[in-house]
Amino acid sequence: MVWIDEIIDEIITGIKDIHCTDNIYELYNALEIIIRYLDKDNILLQGNDALYNRCYFDQEVVFIRNDLDHGYEKFILAHELGHALLHTSLKTSPFNPLMNINKLEKQANYFAVKILNVDLDSIALEGFTIDQIASTLELPVAYVTTVREIETEYMMGFEGRCNGA
Ligand SMILES: [Zn+2]
Repeated sequence: MVWIDEIIDEIITGIKDIHCTDNIYELYNALEIIIRYLDKDNILLQGNDALYNRCYFDQEVVFIRNDLDHGYEKFILAHELGHALLHTSLKTSPFNPLMNINKLEKQANYFAVKILNVDLDSIALEGFTIDQIASTLELPVAYVTTVREIETEYMMGFEGRCNGA
């Protein structure tokens, strides 16, 4: 067991320093991860809001619907960046709010909230409900809930960086 929180903080500080930006689109550019906007019924999305593919014809790519709210789009891109950097043995990963949210999904959500600098605590302190936070951030309620769960759990199992696989 390691402190996922510390690892995520370290990775985020690292990539922001190296690439001199905290803009999620510029980070994609710097890391050479391609964002491909598609109609929601495009077969490449397989019915999901987005789909990360580590090796699509030798390119690391995120397929994403072209009709999403800006805040939601940014959250998804930050989430997928989390998979790209944290879950290096993961080849593909769909993003779908209706899907079961497992440990890796929670970690990617947590990464997204951290890299986007969403300060859930200060929002919560002002007495907002989960529903209100979700609508303020333009996020699905389920995602805000899992982020809060992680913040309370704090310590989680972690699969580690790439082991050469
Ligand atoms: Zn995911």
